[in-house]
Amino acid sequence: RREAALAGGTGKGCTKDGYPVALLANIGTVEDARRAAAQPVEGVGLFRTEFLFLDRDTMPTLEEQTATYTEVFSAFGERRVVVRTLDAGADKPLKFADLGPEENPALGRRGLRLGMIRTDVLDTQLQALAAAYHATGADVRVMAPMVATQAEAVWFAERVRALGLPKVGVMIEVPSAAIRSRGILYHVDFASLGTNDLQQYTMAADRMQGELASLLDPWEPALLDVIAMACEGGHTMGKPIGVCGEAGGNPGLALVLVGLGVTSLSMAPSKVAAVRTVLAAHTREQCQQFAAAARAATSAGEAKRAVLAIADPIL
Ligand code: PEP
Ligand code: MG
Repeated sequence: RREAALAGGTGKGCTKDGYPVALLANIGTVEDARRAAAQPVEGVGLFRTEFLFLDRDTMPTLEEQTATYTEVFSAFGERRVVVRTLDAGADKPLKFADLGPEENPALGRRGLRLGMIRTDVLDTQLQALAAAYHATGADVRVMAPMVATQAEAVWFAERVRALGLPKVGVMIEVPSAAIRSRGILYHVDFASLGTNDLQQYTMAADRMQGELASLLDPWEPALLDVIAMACEGGHTMGKPIGVCGEAGGNPGLALVLVGLGVTSLSMAPSKVAAVRTVLAAHTREQCQQFAAAARAATSAGEAKRAVLAIADPIL
């Protein structure tokens, strides 16, 4: 078992004592989908759909979107594909749905907020996803970006379910959604932690601004506390809560995240083998110890050192 783990392995992700943690791919294009599907991943944990919408003067048609989604779903056969609806606005403006300049775009009408204003854009995308789902019978799960309140989750879930899509979720990337994940998860089937934005908003530090990098170290104990809170809500509701931000692809942090209670990790496909290996070398209880050690630290650097000091040297 250990030798297989050291070689990277190909089966399902799990800890040394057999606790399953799905290892999934982040993709952003049809080409990404083809490449990732050839890898030993359990599916897609984040399909970013922005590539269809950005840099064009008109909205992609229902037919064009349906064809693209059908292609992506087909590539993964029976493996799950978690699709995120359009996450535009802020730094990713849409030419055909420009809402005008904003003082603080990262705090503005982005993600689902834009979809709630331009319902024509969101509904066309959902209809295309439903058509591709009905055509392929794939394991499709649809989630919304930038959900901040329970009301938004309810609004989105009703629209998705009305089209016969079987599973609906939300991204947890705004601290309010992490803090109140229990109420949000009551209304949806799953959640996925977008640790990139969750950290930006927890630390009030623009993720695009390189000088603030020290505030954006994903080992930051405050971020881990917020993630722990979100996981508690998932646990209480008995609903899966994954990670699809960059933190999930960092082997040491992946162990901490599993210890905090996340049930799946989605990352660039190139990172899956290393995460699979470290996961197979540690028990779930050890992961919980790592999480406790990291949260007891007073800085990101200290958290990382504390975990490395007690983990298997493989890490
Ligand atoms: C995130 O915020 O962590 C995330 C996965 O979404 P994006 O990086 O596309 O904002
Ligand atoms: Mg995000």
